[in-house]
Amino acid sequence: MNFYKLKDFDFNNKKIIVRVDFNVPLKNRKVIDDTKIRAALPTIEFLIKKKCKIILMSHLGRPKGKVIDELRLDPVAKKLSNILGKEVKKLDSCTGKEVEEAVAAMKDGDLIMLENIQFDHGEKENSKEYAEKLAKYADIYVNDGFGQCHRNYASFVAITEYLPSCAGLLVEKELNTMLPIINNPKKPYTAVVGGAKADKIETINSLLKKADKILIAGVLANTFLKAKGYNIGSSLFDEETIGLAKELADNEKIMLPVDFIIADKLDENSDDKIVKAEDIPDNRMALDIGNETVEKYNGIIKDAKTVVFFGTIGAFEIDKFSKGTEQILSAMASSEADTILGGGDSAAAADKFGLSDKMTHVSTGGGASLALFSGKELPAVKALEENYKKFK
Ligand code: ADP
Ligand code: MG
Repeated sequence: MNFYKLKDFDFNNKKIIVRVDFNVPLKNRKVIDDTKIRAALPTIEFLIKKKCKIILMSHLGRPKGKVIDELRLDPVAKKLSNILGKEVKKLDSCTGKEVEEAVAAMKDGDLIMLENIQFDHGEKENSKEYAEKLAKYADIYVNDGFGQCHRNYASFVAITEYLPSCAGLLVEKELNTMLPIINNPKKPYTAVVGGAKADKIETINSLLKKADKILIAGVLANTFLKAKGYNIGSSLFDEETIGLAKELADNEKIMLPVDFIIADKLDENSDDKIVKAEDIPDNRMALDIGNETVEKYNGIIKDAKTVVFFGTIGAFEIDKFSKGTEQILSAMASSEADTILGGGDSAAAADKFGLSDKMTHVSTGGGASLALFSGKELPAVKALEENYKKFK
């Protein structure tokens, strides 16, 4: 990995702009899981020790280039401030006069947090103009937002054209732990892909070149079943990727659930039962895999030497639909294989079942680690490498 790390620069008393991934879950405007915030603490604390003026950037949710009050970063800044025991001055804009004045008034060791970086459409467009404005506030750029490194966004990519840039400690640790396994996975290599994010299916084609078996679960499994012509009742699925699922469905490396726990609603007080995949009735939704599938999948996991897990098996937040996730994660935890887990909900599930410590690595980035395991280059990491060549 040819890019700069924190140890390569002289940070003393400089102005540093840091991209973190503080896209954390909120409830009633309060942070309910601060894992992602804590993951960036080593870098933030390093910069505080060097008496830097620290400017933090993050997105939250999907504002799509518009200002959305519920997606302002105030609760996130407050949480970070509580954890650090230090003021984090939250601004209401990302660029412009308010930011210029706040940066000019900063003292050594001060922290400010810009507003949700995706309130400006320039972020997702990887706009040079937007990146240049952000870069003007600082002397050095640090990327510690591993969870978004698979995105070609301004605060990750374009910004590296304007400042000496380096990886933070989280990005360095994530890559250092996962790349050796990615480049040289022990075989058999099994990937478990579940969860609700539809874009996961787009990596399956490349994942197929690397993995020996891909075990499908979650909403993704419903999309596959629908593509194969099964009745899936009122189960969630993704209309847009049905075509892709159809192309992949007959690949012999791909395994689909053979039974499901179905219910009338996503609720602890629902009417639930186990049925075969071909027997899902109308008005019922598949919310977890059944015992037969658990046994089948765990048999494969038991024989594997590398197991990666992206996205939960079922709707694990509700106890009666959490057994599949718990049993699959337990099989991983008790295996001798290299076990990697990626994604906010996947990590939360491992925590809920007390299994996180038994995994080789729990990544803060679901999409980013899945992209890496699919053999893809991460645009934000590539940008750091380009920057290294340029400023060497
Ligand atoms: P990660 O955060 O690990 O990347 P995702 O966000 O893609 O994972 O998916 C996790 C979410 O998927 C959880 O909120 C879970 O409740 C939901 N989920 C999984 N299976 C189902 C299902 N069959 N029906 C509805 N929701 C599901
Ligand atoms: Mg998630």
